[in-house]
Amino acid sequence: MKFKLTLIFLLCVSAVASAQNVDSLMLRKIYDEALVNGQCYQNLHYLCKNIGQRLSGSANAQKAVDWTKKLMDTYGFDKVFLQPVMVTHWVRGEKEVGKIIDGKTEISVAIAALGGSVATPKTGLSANVIEVHSLAELKDLGETVIKGKIVFFNRPFDPKFIETGTAYGTAGDQRFAGAAAAAKFGAVGVIVRSLTEAQDNYPHTGTTRYDEGGVKIPAAAISTMAANKLSSMLKLRKLPLIKFYFKQSCQSMPDAPSFNVVGEIKGSENPNKFIVVGGHLDSWDLAEGAHDDGTGVMQSVEVLRILKATGYHPKNSIRAVLYMDEESGGKGGAEYARLAKQNKEDHIAAIESDEGGFTPRGFSFVDASPAFLKGVNQSWKKLFEPYESDRLVAGGGGSDIEHLKGTQPSVRLIGFRPDSQRYFDIHHTPNDVFENVNKRELELGSASMASLIYLIDQYGLNFK
Ligand SMILES: [Zn+2]
Repeated sequence: MKFKLTLIFLLCVSAVASAQNVDSLMLRKIYDEALVNGQCYQNLHYLCKNIGQRLSGSANAQKAVDWTKKLMDTYGFDKVFLQPVMVTHWVRGEKEVGKIIDGKTEISVAIAALGGSVATPKTGLSANVIEVHSLAELKDLGETVIKGKIVFFNRPFDPKFIETGTAYGTAGDQRFAGAAAAAKFGAVGVIVRSLTEAQDNYPHTGTTRYDEGGVKIPAAAISTMAANKLSSMLKLRKLPLIKFYFKQSCQSMPDAPSFNVVGEIKGSENPNKFIVVGGHLDSWDLAEGAHDDGTGVMQSVEVLRILKATGYHPKNSIRAVLYMDEESGGKGGAEYARLAKQNKEDHIAAIESDEGGFTPRGFSFVDASPAFLKGVNQSWKKLFEPYESDRLVAGGGGSDIEHLKGTQPSVRLIGFRPDSQRYFDIHHTPNDVFENVNKRELELGSASMASLIYLIDQYGLNFK
């Protein structure tokens, strides 16, 4: 009896070991395909240099839709299709002008209108400046101090956070909600310190949101160097000597027709079960949307290409989803989730790559319990270790896939986690260009996502 049990135990151990061996060979095959025959980098080059910025609702966004659909068609995926969606359409207009006015001296500074912002009057807007560091401080000062002024939000990134995304998250309310909050106290405009730790002259754009029915005042981002200058000048002199002047002609247009672009490899056992990987096809208009999020969309297409090239036949359907309108309103992600429910699709997992195309470190799993994390690490961490992409942690997924939570009860949302140290140097700036993307880092990212998809396809995600 004892002998029998020992034999069964040994058979089980060797079965697990051989499965691990098959898996590690498959991961090796995936990485080899990505690093030797990778097409992600050249595709990103085309997207950045032949199309360029892809602001939601723009003609360039449509060019990106047409080209990515064609690209996936040429790869011969089982299905490539467009999902029509009405998207946010905001236009920047003429290049913004910003000046610090100190008596008769005018100092030009780098600003960029925040997405969704209204324009200033045609001749621009000038007013005394009040510097604040938080929405709470704004509230404490109240209407008597704020009325008629330009509010200057100047809370810097907290450098103590190791993940820069956390610093972005904690500084972000100034940009998202600053204009709406300042308008309530009678401010006439808002300028916000760029959300970055970099000390340079690039303004970082990004959306701001007004309250429904609230007063809309113009809002712009100011570079960190200009913010430091303005702050030091305000400290030296008392009001009302320092004024700020800015001029912008941006405009919100009616929602425009656009598309999500979807490529699919059909599952052999469960064609109606889906594992999706994606990023957003739209980008800000100050540069080429290389890291944000050209890398994410090109990696997603590459994941499908790699799996097909290795000859892998998935059990479940695998999709690359290129969402539209992430930056301006998130309507593409919402529509994908709505259609998934309407079409009675069952999504097992959704991965999003929207934190730049830097060296992959691992993945974060949304709402992961300690038991889930223990299980996923015990099963898969070792397989990722040779590729230095083995951090399997709890954390965020991504704003496009978030919508699936509402329509897909059993979906596991997963964020692709590259190294975060350099992302916010270029995020939403004129500096987000192809030249700042590293070929190997980009390819390693595609390979790590293809590997995770392979493992999910084989074993599911029922770690409890
Ligand atoms: Zn993004």
